[in-house]
Amino acid sequence: MDFEIPFFFYHQGRRLATVSIELMRPVRNLGRVLDALESSGISVLGLTSWLPSGDSECVGFLMVVDTTGHGSDPGELVRKLSELPGVTNVRIWRSGIDGFAAMTPNGFPTFIGERVYVMPSVVFKSIYHALYRSHGKTLFVILYLAGKATGERAAELRSLFMDQEAEPLESLVAILKVLGPPLGVLRDVERLETNGDVTRLMVEDLADCVALRELSPRAPTGHFLRGFIEGFMRSLGEPVEVFETECINLGHPSCEFELKRTGVHS
Ligand SMILES: [Zn+2]
Repeated sequence: MDFEIPFFFYHQGRRLATVSIELMRPVRNLGRVLDALESSGISVLGLTSWLPSGDSECVGFLMVVDTTGHGSDPGELVRKLSELPGVTNVRIWRSGIDGFAAMTPNGFPTFIGERVYVMPSVVFKSIYHALYRSHGKTLFVILYLAGKATGERAAELRSLFMDQEAEPLESLVAILKVLGPPLGVLRDVERLETNGDVTRLMVEDLADCVALRELSPRAPTGHFLRGFIEGFMRSLGEPVEVFETECINLGHPSCEFELKRTGVHS
């Protein structure tokens, strides 16, 4: 199964569980499952779906539920759900940590087939701080190159999200806007204006810049995104040169990127 976004739940003092079911289509049959859970005093905190491979008649659902009010053993819940018409392959997992449940009972979360690393900010920050302390501003070159390679890969995957007809810049903003917040990369991005060959993007809470803020680098620090934009746009045949003209690490309230068309196709 391929999760679109990893989900974690932590509710101190509650008993949470992850429930997986497969259900005969149509999807509205899910209503019976939700009614059965509700009548047992179980609330659904989150839900995602997948298509079981090789079975076009079924849809898989994965839920994180709060069973605190249920009071009985998971086996009874499995039996109750399995008795519903069209429901098969009911499984329940408990994490073993009080109050914690994840929508990733087996293996790693993935996104469009690629493994997703979910990193608490303390880990992300520690990596960035260690690299900055040991490499100084050379870190910015490393981040730029890493961003560029990632942007090129994102351009290859663009067709999964976007109409091929969409212009590259429009695709870029849409992808950053939709995927940025759930992946923890940025809070929001706005296309401010296009003036001749120059477009400006405003980016709020960019992870790299936030991570480096404590070290007061007094320089623009959004080099991963700068490289990402260049790699993405070049791969789609509209090369741009990107400058971070405003940055929270220069004292601005948000970061701003200027994209300048280079017109060089290579
Ligand atoms: Zn910045």
